[in-house]
Amino acid sequence: MDYYGWGWRPYVSVAERRRKAVREMEKRRKKGQSVSPVVVEGRTIANTFWGKSWCENLERYSDFANRLPRGRTYVRNGSVVDLRIAAGEIRAWVSGSELYEVALNVTPVAKTRWKSICTDCAGAIDSLVELLQGRFSKGVMERICRQGQGLFPSPAEIQLSCSCPDYADMCKHVAAVLYGVGARFDRQPELLFRLRGVDENDLILRAGKSMPLSPNGPDAAKVLGGEDLAGIFGLDMAADTGPERKAKKKPAAKAAPPKRATAKRPRKTKKTP
Ligand SMILES: [Zn+2]
Repeated sequence: MDYYGWGWRPYVSVAERRRKAVREMEKRRKKGQSVSPVVVEGRTIANTFWGKSWCENLERYSDFANRLPRGRTYVRNGSVVDLRIAAGEIRAWVSGSELYEVALNVTPVAKTRWKSICTDCAGAIDSLVELLQGRFSKGVMERICRQGQGLFPSPAEIQLSCSCPDYADMCKHVAAVLYGVGARFDRQPELLFRLRGVDENDLILRAGKSMPLSPNGPDAAKVLGGEDLAGIFGLDMAADTGPERKAKKKPAAKAAPPKRATAKRPRKTKKTP
């Protein structure tokens, strides 16, 4: 139920609202518009390195952390009925009290930053397939996920907007879309590179380059478990199963300055067999 809806808006169940939204999307599809709903199976929103890292990146910023949880239920129950990701932009339709349009603009990765990422990772990623599967060394993961200097955007690099009446910058529809993006990256990780305006081929092994982040041996520690990934982001993985606190409505934090990049040390270093 929408915050403003209590008392006068007739009650419509979540399931009914979603059915209506799905019918509306079906109409659009018939008109030839492309419609791409977010489907989350089970409780886990994202399972791969790219999907999980996208979600965990957002959760590490205090600007976002207390408002994001309301999006989890929304995305899990299929409320993000359409999500499209292109260069610098995310567009979505979310089923709430009505059908709301969410528009997120994401700043491209600066050329100098991208060059630095590529230089640091040169020689460490063998193929596009391995890159997209997230099969690379922990050093590469840390570089890609580095706060403010990696591939994932900080809050200052994401402009949020939604057509709903909630005055908070991050309403539950925006939060749901942000998680929906993580779910989408599970299936189409290449979209992260499109979104950030960079070419993933730049990261693939190039002969004759220095190899600062290469593993010492072949296939050394190429796949990380959940705990290791949480360590990279300095997060507690159990957070997702906790109660979904009601976020307090606070004035927009859009103007928050970008956080200083402080690479967090992993709390646990677990060897993968
Ligand atoms: Zn909204």
